[in-house]
Amino acid sequence: MTALYGAIEAGGTKFVCMVGAGPEDVRAETRFPTTSPERTLRQAIEFLRAEQDRQGPLAAVGIASFGPVDLRPDSPTYGYITSTPKAGWSNVSMAGAAAAALGVPVGFDTDVNAAALAEQRWGAGRGLHSFVYMTIGTGIGGGGLLDGRVLHGLVHPEMGHMRLPHDVAADPFAGICPFHGDCLEGLASGPAMNARWRQPAEDLPDDHPAWPLEAGYLALAVSNLVCTLSPQRIVIGGGVMSKAFLFPMIRQKVADLLNNYVRAPEIVDDIDDFIVAPGLGERAGAFGGFALAADALQASPPERDAV
Ligand code: ZN
Repeated sequence: MTALYGAIEAGGTKFVCMVGAGPEDVRAETRFPTTSPERTLRQAIEFLRAEQDRQGPLAAVGIASFGPVDLRPDSPTYGYITSTPKAGWSNVSMAGAAAAALGVPVGFDTDVNAAALAEQRWGAGRGLHSFVYMTIGTGIGGGGLLDGRVLHGLVHPEMGHMRLPHDVAADPFAGICPFHGDCLEGLASGPAMNARWRQPAEDLPDDHPAWPLEAGYLALAVSNLVCTLSPQRIVIGGGVMSKAFLFPMIRQKVADLLNNYVRAPEIVDDIDDFIVAPGLGERAGAFGGFALAADALQASPPERDAV
């Protein structure tokens, strides 16, 4: 029998919850705004419980969460959102709450790591062992796999907060990150564009100087990731990237920045296939919940009567 999973994409503005066997077999889906932790988590649990009653038991649940989160298995606050600037959500248990309410294995990771996992399993990263997923939207995040393993390291990567050369003569905007000012997210997220140009990014005309500037910052970030992680492909999603003309601009600027130093044919000859849009679109994060759930089930101790 096909195992059924619950998937929760816990975002800062909305939650997306699904029940199914995977991206090709989604049996139920709902979304609701992120309000207080108590209310929002209760809505997610109630949805999964109701679907469980309707469709049969869930084998595991995966949570792809906004962060920062605690991913150290031996930590007393494993599975918590830790120090988020989002009001009310600091020190909130996510994985523990779901495990206690549903009694099944719970996989937990950042939304971008989960999206990277989903893209590698079912989307634009299929067949690759080293792979980065970035999202450029309300915030900027990046996650990935290195040699087949999701990259956690000390805490988890915070690619959106990398520092970039910032030419203040060309772009005097100070940036909006509450922690760093002009980090990548502070300069190039959707809200940063809105603040710099005093209008929503989606309303800026295609020939607006905002776009070459944006492509320049994203190209700097991509070049840094190429030089530090050596991924086989970089997938860039998120609301800002719905302007598809950004892709050729970023590719050209990345090629210029790397200046033929990284001598891989994937970059030198085929950069169109190296920097790409997501294969799973806006649902990569929620589908990542399925991937985390399947991995959590595989990692959980076998039932005693299964011998
Ligand atoms: Zn920052």
